[in-house]
Amino acid sequence: MTRIKVETASPYEVIVGAGALAGAADFVSANFVGAKSIALVSDSNVEALHGSGVAAVLESTGRRVERIVFPAGEKSKTLETYGELLDALASLRFSRSDLIVALGGGVTGDLAGFAAATYMRGIDFIQVPTSLLAMVDSSVGGKTGVDLPAGKNLAGAFHQPKAVFCDTGFLRTLPEERRIDGMGEVLKYAVLGDTELFAALERSPLAPMDEASIARCIGMKRDIVGLDERESGPRRLLNLGHTFAHAIEKLSGYSVSHGRAVAAGVVMAAKASSNAGMMSRSDAERIEALAAAMGFETSYPYALADMREAMLADKKAAAGAVDFVLPLEIGKCTVKNVSPAGISWEG
Ligand code: NAD
Repeated sequence: MTRIKVETASPYEVIVGAGALAGAADFVSANFVGAKSIALVSDSNVEALHGSGVAAVLESTGRRVERIVFPAGEKSKTLETYGELLDALASLRFSRSDLIVALGGGVTGDLAGFAAATYMRGIDFIQVPTSLLAMVDSSVGGKTGVDLPAGKNLAGAFHQPKAVFCDTGFLRTLPEERRIDGMGEVLKYAVLGDTELFAALERSPLAPMDEASIARCIGMKRDIVGLDERESGPRRLLNLGHTFAHAIEKLSGYSVSHGRAVAAGVVMAAKASSNAGMMSRSDAERIEALAAAMGFETSYPYALADMREAMLADKKAAAGAVDFVLPLEIGKCTVKNVSPAGISWEG
């Protein structure tokens, strides 16, 4: 088991490994003496597979456990589902000293976390991530929220969990397509700051992630979040590949998944950096070769002009410029605020 401390204003631990969930009962008993009830929030897929097992662990603390379920998928990450979640907590008479446990992928963590951030002006919550993407990325860092019709993640709050139980045993039931989504974020971390992880991926691009590799990604996110809890500076590095990815997702009508789009976006960022003379051509080629070996498309057939227009519509664009995260070498990136017209990732 690996324990990673996240040093935010209210510090917490991420416990990583097979069987990590077993520690949740003792943690709740020791730290939430006043909590009489626990809301176990999950989506329909994860609830069917893992709801009973996790509820049993939480019930062993002697508390009332209420299971709240919503239909699986990004389409549920809405104000409507969020409102239903708050209504359920109120009708079940949850108090400010009670607890929410988010069991699932990034959608569940974002939704349940946002409910925790706002119900009675904020109650405590614990993350139990079950997808690879949620383990290496979304369950740590305290970003919570929902999508609006105008765009993804447009309403939300920063609200750090009290602990993250990252039990790698859950990955056994994760569909392969979803595993690959998570690997897009893993590639991002390797290029962002971990040459050893990059080399390990080059040696075995299709191997499942083990505890140590997952912990490396979480450790990197912890380091960046610890420096910049509310994304005013260094945390922007975590958006490596994302400006390109959001444009690909939008132009594909969201038929290209986020993880696949991020992987292609990392390759495009490397090419843009190499074209601008900021990174060697050979490093950019290594990144492209690794992404392809991991099973990702490395380019999509969208016109440069359409991509640039989509980038300017992104919520992170301001005054015609975008913060592009550009690799300088494998394991080292920088943020450059430029107009999308000023960079090219072709060639
Ligand atoms: P998701 O939560 O929809 O999960 C993907 C699918 O996998 C779902 O169908 C889910 O039911 C299923 N699933 C999850 N775990 C499973 C398991 N162990 N066994 C079987 N099926 C399982 O999506 P995701 O890819 O986990 O996360 C994407 C979301 O995360 C997006 O909404 C994105 O905006 C958000 N996100 C948030 C942050 C953040 O910092 N808060 C960071 C990155 C992404």
